[in-house]
Amino acid sequence: MKMIPYGRQYIDEEDIAAVVETLKSDWLTSGPKVDEFEAEIAKYVGAKYAIAVNSGTSALDIAIASLDLPSGSEIITTPFTFAASANCALYNNCKPVFADIDTKTYNIDIEQIKKKITKKTKAIVYVDYAGHPCPINELNELAQKHDLYLIEDAAHAFGAEYYGKKVGAFADITEFSFHPVKHITTGEGGALTTNDERLANKLRILRTHGIDKSARERFQNASFAYDMKYLGRNYRITDIQCALGLSQMKKIETFLSRRRQIVRKYHDAFEDMENISLQSEEKYAKNAYHLFTIRVKNRDKVFAELRKRNIGVNVHYIPTYKFSYYQQFKISQINYPNTEKVYSEILSLPMYYGLTDEELDYVIINVNEVVK
Ligand SMILES: *Cc1c(COP(=O)(O)O)cnc(C)c1O
Repeated sequence: MKMIPYGRQYIDEEDIAAVVETLKSDWLTSGPKVDEFEAEIAKYVGAKYAIAVNSGTSALDIAIASLDLPSGSEIITTPFTFAASANCALYNNCKPVFADIDTKTYNIDIEQIKKKITKKTKAIVYVDYAGHPCPINELNELAQKHDLYLIEDAAHAFGAEYYGKKVGAFADITEFSFHPVKHITTGEGGALTTNDERLANKLRILRTHGIDKSARERFQNASFAYDMKYLGRNYRITDIQCALGLSQMKKIETFLSRRRQIVRKYHDAFEDMENISLQSEEKYAKNAYHLFTIRVKNRDKVFAELRKRNIGVNVHYIPTYKFSYYQQFKISQINYPNTEKVYSEILSLPMYYGLTDEELDYVIINVNEVVK
């Protein structure tokens, strides 16, 4: 069996044709494909506005920038995530403050957030781990009470649902990623969705240098005038990428249902095994399953043995406070017992649309053997 990765893209001839067609068009960047892709994203997640950018990390950066927080503001997030969820605070001269997770969903724990709120707290960046939505009603209540912004890092949760409604318009701003391991891909890419017109306009401007007119508007208007309103970035996404994204969007339901089919097979195989525990799916949630994780004792041994058998298992995630860059903040792991516990046992199994039944069976047989 050749190496089976934990995640990968699915690209078909239609995707390739869409990209080629755009390469031959007038606009390679900031053109009509960007508008079309944004409209498609907004419609799909049920938000009024979508702003597409060149990565999920860029999206998080300008999400925080758009809030205009005083320097030194505290932003609460989970340590059990990709580094970008906390880095976006640092980019904007804010301080990331970590709250421990709950051991069933591995999402940030509301009770732990409450303990971390101070006068300086201005926002919560919550992550829908693996694609399992956070308890948004409770988060909203907390945000209202303490006057906090909510940013949803939904990089794992494209297509996920909370009480039957898609993730994308619950928080003030929601961020998605279109990296190749995510549900749909644009190579690199991301998007922000919101129902707030003021924030949407500001995010659009922050994406392109803080300048209030795009090159296309300046090209199409009679005037050369434009203004730079904020210290923006160049986080524009190309039309080439958005053409790919639009073509991928046609397959989103197929992508998601194959992921859930894989989950059912994994569940059937592992749910009664004594040595394996699984992430729970709460009754309010429909998990989009960017990741499928199991928890095992002797994780490092199981990891090494499965890698030897060409199964590209992975660990999501090394808690952010463990990284050497984060040592300057002197965060003690003693305060994060649940994160430490889950981290020591977690293992991601292969989970992507193109995983064949044969590969899936191979993974299940080998996990069974190794874990026993
Ligand atoms: C993928 C991901 C991001 C964004 O990643 P990019 O590679 O910059 O698109 C942000 N947060 C989490 C939790 C992610 O998994």
